[in-house]
Amino acid sequence: MNSILYSWLSVITGLFVGSFLNVVADRLPAGESILRPPSHCPNCQRQLTPWELIPVLSWLALRGRCRTCYAAIPWRVPLVELATGILFGLVWLRFGWSWNLIAGIGLVCLLVPLTLIDLQHRLLLNVLVYPGMVFFALLSPRLAGFPLWPLLAGLGAFGFFLTVHLIAPRGMGMGDVKLAGMIGLALGLPETFVALFLGIILGGVISLVLLGTGLKSRKDYVPFGPFLAAGALLALLWGPEIWQFYLHILF
Ligand SMILES: [Zn+2]
Repeated sequence: MNSILYSWLSVITGLFVGSFLNVVADRLPAGESILRPPSHCPNCQRQLTPWELIPVLSWLALRGRCRTCYAAIPWRVPLVELATGILFGLVWLRFGWSWNLIAGIGLVCLLVPLTLIDLQHRLLLNVLVYPGMVFFALLSPRLAGFPLWPLLAGLGAFGFFLTVHLIAPRGMGMGDVKLAGMIGLALGLPETFVALFLGIILGGVISLVLLGTGLKSRKDYVPFGPFLAAGALLALLWGPEIWQFYLHILF
């Protein structure tokens, strides 16, 4: 009974955190405070009432429009809330009460705004990545597994992507290099292998699809951060199982 209650509590917490992460993704690139002013309609500037701040439900009730000026509220808003809620629930189911739960929640809270900002602005902000590195480095001795793995994974991922960056600076930015380092620190081994491999595969396949369907041309830049983030979240949730699957295929 308790476990069902906790699962729902984690999803609901995630929905509200997702709502805040939307604000972070909107305000950080503009250099605005993430705490002040309170949430308002970006079009008519009216401050939102608590009833307009209920994740997903408010957007549905308002049919995706501001109550006063009828400006459209992007569907990204409820989607991010829902995704964060589901991720919180999955992280809880995976780890339960543990230090890994804190690391997992921290990783979700960093990767969601990093992904949104990279998609919109093609930037992976140091103001998110650097504190993330410190957070996971400090937490790493508490996590399950050999305590040095996260440090080695972080250094290894950083070094590998730095090499790619030096060979092909246009394909891989320094933001991706630092993000890979942060993911290594958060996940340790072998999860970091899983994360980077999945990120590269996803990035490659989706770039080919975008090129093949003509949605993007060769000159367009496809941000790599979202693929790394997706790989990292899959590795966070199912890393050991995916690793076993790799080994099963290879040997
Ligand atoms: Zn408005």
